Amino acid sequence: MAVAFVTHPHCHLHRMGDEHPERPARLNAVEDALHACGLYDLLQHHEAPRATVEQLTRVHPLGYVEDLANRSPAEGLTHIDPDTWMCPDTFEAALRAAGANILATDLVLSGQAARAFCNVRPPGHHAERAVAMGFCFFNNVAVAARHALEQHGLERIAILDFDVHLGNGTEDIFRDDRRVLLCSSYQYPLWPDLNPPTLPGRVINCPLPPGSGSEAFRAAVQQHWLPALEAFAPQLVLISAGFDAHAADDMSHLRLTTADYAWVTEEACGVADRHAQGRVISTLEGGYDLGSLGASAAAHIAKLALA
Ligand SMILES: [Zn+2]
Repeated sequence: MAVAFVTHPHCHLHRMGDEHPERPARLNAVEDALHACGLYDLLQHHEAPRATVEQLTRVHPLGYVEDLANRSPAEGLTHIDPDTWMCPDTFEAALRAAGANILATDLVLSGQAARAFCNVRPPGHHAERAVAMGFCFFNNVAVAARHALEQHGLERIAILDFDVHLGNGTEDIFRDDRRVLLCSSYQYPLWPDLNPPTLPGRVINCPLPPGSGSEAFRAAVQQHWLPALEAFAPQLVLISAGFDAHAADDMSHLRLTTADYAWVTEEACGVADRHAQGRVISTLEGGYDLGSLGASAAAHIAKLALA
């Protein structure tokens, strides 16, 4: 069965200035790499709807959603935090990025697609319940998780986050939600300069010191993520897929390879095959070196399709 590929033209229109690393070319890098390896035409292509207020407010307070809408500029850029800006197209792009995750959840849980990848921006995992930060506005993976829980009636969801930065937003949202197991690996120290403790059965945090490579990453996944995932037996596996821990990405000092992203995807699919009828939904987070982003995302999506 096909893998769904969900995106929207508006995700290319969100801009935070000419020099900003979180730029529209990132989405093209993923699509170009999929074309180059022959995978693009094998995917089931979908245009993302807008997330509705009801879907967003399962994660974010209504006042937060309204405040972001009100801060959307008619022209120029609105400053959100030292790294994060809104342009006139940002709010619509953010609605589509969250909406892509809603559609992907509906497609996979209805059996219309086996797995899904959302090629969207702005990313989401730094967005807390009521704080936009770190290039993120709505927490896309959290919107998918709450949709699966509230709309589809699932009871246990795993979120895997291998972006090089701690997904502080996802942790803020789910820390007290026992229906969700969050497994993270990230460089520490590194922005956002947080290293919260592991909470057994709920939050599995694997900080990796600068300079860590494949061996340390794979050991963390094998020793900490996989036993927790087997015990939790998720009914759906969501992935916050950031590719900025790659050795070629100068956003961090980890040294992961394209093969590591293929490997961790295979492990995630294995968990899903054993417990979740194979269901995996992945959404793009970071990844700022266009070459390694494209290659790593294509390797990731190839494993979603084949593993
Ligand atoms: Zn990141």
